Amino acid sequence: MAMELRDSHGRVMRDLRVSVTDRCNFRCLYCLPETEEAANFYRTRWAGAPGGLPAARPIAYEWKPRAELLSFEEIERVVRVAAALGIDKVRVTGGEPLLRKGVEGLVGSLARIPGVRDLAMTTNGFLFPSKAQALRDAGLHRVSFSMDSLDAANFRRMTGRDGLPGVLEGIQLARRLGFSPIKVNAVVIRGMNDHEVEDLAAFAHEHDLSMRFIEFMPLDSSRAWQRDLVVPGSEILRRLNARWNLVRVEAPDRPSETARRWRFPDGRGEIGVIAPVSEPFCGHCNRLRLTADGKVRTCLFSLVEHDLRPLLRGGASDEDLALRLVEIVAGKEAGHRIGKPDFVQPARTMSCIGG
Ligand code: SAM
Ligand code: SF4
Repeated sequence: MAMELRDSHGRVMRDLRVSVTDRCNFRCLYCLPETEEAANFYRTRWAGAPGGLPAARPIAYEWKPRAELLSFEEIERVVRVAAALGIDKVRVTGGEPLLRKGVEGLVGSLARIPGVRDLAMTTNGFLFPSKAQALRDAGLHRVSFSMDSLDAANFRRMTGRDGLPGVLEGIQLARRLGFSPIKVNAVVIRGMNDHEVEDLAAFAHEHDLSMRFIEFMPLDSSRAWQRDLVVPGSEILRRLNARWNLVRVEAPDRPSETARRWRFPDGRGEIGVIAPVSEPFCGHCNRLRLTADGKVRTCLFSLVEHDLRPLLRGGASDEDLALRLVEIVAGKEAGHRIGKPDFVQPARTMSCIGG
């Protein structure tokens, strides 16, 4: 029988998220909250907690030295080996993937790998207008944008950048160039952008795209996550249903999908709710992650990483790599522990792991 990436819980891996850089040109409140506004927000939110926001909480993050990042050839090789083991969906992410010079060349080589039938990218959109045509020509199928707010001032508060016009332009351009489907992600944080949920949904309806609301997960570099800041997916849905009679989109053939989906009654636009905190979907997880510095993570919340660089740079054959991947996947954890007494936040942030 051909080798495949099956874990000890019977799940077979199909989806690989490849981070091409840990760097970013944004400072999102829920990811790399470096701005004064982010600090003020968290200070206020922690004010009622015993002791307030602990001073020594932040995770120190330093950009990885260039030499530690996988080269495009190394990334292409890992993806090729993984595709031969059944990975058919690849997402290029980061950090901000468009900051990696020549990323369209990597996209071109990933698009040519036999077995990769779905090649996507997640981006904050800031640099997308300048790269869109090259990415399309290189063979990128789909793009997901992050856009947490439709209000320029609130967008800036959440991301640390005046980036809203660029993202809006990027979304329109993606449509014109034929990227499909177009998804837009918004992390919803109570007291920050939860009042915009209806506006964001209306945007999806108006522009006939997929708007996905994501629960805030404890993966921020300041370790300032609090359960109270999470707006449960069910609450978002209740509010949207009060305005529109949303129709559930069933996907029985895709149990591993992270989003529960609804469409608007007139068939224009879609809503996705990604609720890893309040309604974990670990049971069907088929995802693996490759960090920019060559570590495989079997879960967003893994506390261990598996370094492929010694193999890649030490003369290992493709078969050695394949066997290592099979071995790593066998140890994939059953699920995350958010909300459990023994939960430990991973040492790396979402920007390093690759969202
Ligand atoms: N920089 C790109 C972007 O923002 O789209 C790609 C990388 S980013 C880490 C990928 C996704 O992770 C984004 O959609 C972002 O909103 C999401 N994300 C980052 N930190 C998060 C957190 N603490 N909780 C939930 N989602 C998060
Ligand atoms: Fe950068 Fe994306 Fe993290 Fe925002 S979510 S800081 S854009 S990596």
